[in-house]
Amino acid sequence: MTSIEKLKFLKEDQVRALAKEFGTPLFVYSEATIEQKCDEALAFPNAFGLQVRYAMKANPNSNILQIMKKKGILIDASSEHEVVRALHFGFAPESIMLTSQEFPKAFVELIGKGVKFNACSLRQLELFGQNFPGKSLSIRFNPGLGSGHTKKTDVGGVTSSFGIWHEKLEEVKAIVKKYNLTVEKVHTHIGSGSDPEVWKAVAKYTLEYAESFPSVSVVSLGGGYKVGRMEDEKSTDLQKIGAPVKIQFQEFAEKHGRKLILEIEPGTYLIALCGALLTTVDDKVDTGKHGFEFIKLDTGMDSNTRPSLYGARHPLVTVKKDGGEPRSNKEYVVVGHCCESGDVFTQKEGGEPMTRLMGETEIGDYVVMEAVGAYCSSMSTKNYNSFPETAEVLLRKDGTPKLIRKKEPVTEIFRNEILVVE
Ligand SMILES: *Cc1c(COP(=O)(O)O)cnc(C)c1O
Repeated sequence: MTSIEKLKFLKEDQVRALAKEFGTPLFVYSEATIEQKCDEALAFPNAFGLQVRYAMKANPNSNILQIMKKKGILIDASSEHEVVRALHFGFAPESIMLTSQEFPKAFVELIGKGVKFNACSLRQLELFGQNFPGKSLSIRFNPGLGSGHTKKTDVGGVTSSFGIWHEKLEEVKAIVKKYNLTVEKVHTHIGSGSDPEVWKAVAKYTLEYAESFPSVSVVSLGGGYKVGRMEDEKSTDLQKIGAPVKIQFQEFAEKHGRKLILEIEPGTYLIALCGALLTTVDDKVDTGKHGFEFIKLDTGMDSNTRPSLYGARHPLVTVKKDGGEPRSNKEYVVVGHCCESGDVFTQKEGGEPMTRLMGETEIGDYVVMEAVGAYCSSMSTKNYNSFPETAEVLLRKDGTPKLIRKKEPVTEIFRNEILVVE
């Protein structure tokens, strides 16, 4: 079942005007949509208070951080460098929590400033204890979900290296005791999505960890709220998945006399649908009667790697360069501009190209790739083939487009190289 995808927050005239003014490829973000998504996250059902953190790895542009900051949203940083970036753009150290795979090299300096730390392994917990005995921190657990606990196999579980395996609770307690630490938060992030049953199960296990540490006042259930990018995909209803979790927090309070604050950490949910990538059709080729018709765009995996990385689908909307509607719909394989066989925007997981039904296009028409707000600009094979970083525009609430990232001059790409060969 395919339906023709539509523009999400832009109008066709706007696409043509933006492409003329700023050129393509161009990321365009909608301030109004970002604010709307923030409001939805801030309305997440909760019993005794809510904290929302933005997983800034999804899209760390300073303007996006600024919009989040004004909404009272805190920061989930996934590396020490993201911490530095958030501090640089005015977030208070206390409003940033670092949840990182790699132990920060500038650990003492950053945590000493007041940045919150979420220990993700026994080694990280031990090092925190050695450097900051008697201090408070958060602990991330891998609740084992995905293999044993429910049939809804997702991420988390035995195949995931994120967080401390739930069976190591006694070891955690021993380190906490050894350094007289205060566990103020327990955290899980299994990236599971829209299934309320999975959410209930994750909340149940996370509340059990909270039970083990009487000093816990905040319970973080992480992010991972799925967003429907294509017409046939559904977005998570935050009200629906949050309602049973609110009851679990109320029951916990009745049983243990502790009113816990709920924390959530969306990345995708806050920003995915707030961005569009404007591109121009550069070329059309075909591989004969039994082959395919290909459209080549003036962007590629250097701006959006998600299709090549996991067969992710993004809406592709034809906008005719001179106005009017496409004459018909056609099946195309849509490819990027990199000299790399994997640079295909319409592919199955595993790499097999597939066709997409979309409005007929000619060379010079625009194709808008939708739902590229999260993990596109921030997670790409940037500069591959020496393509410069794509410019970014923020559509302010009054409709004015403002440049928020200049197109990278090509000399910037090799700025850090040192020529030693004469
Ligand atoms: C990436 C990440 C998130 C956000 O995940 P989304 O799927 O974008 O919502 C939240 N918490 C942590 C610890 C993460 O690493």
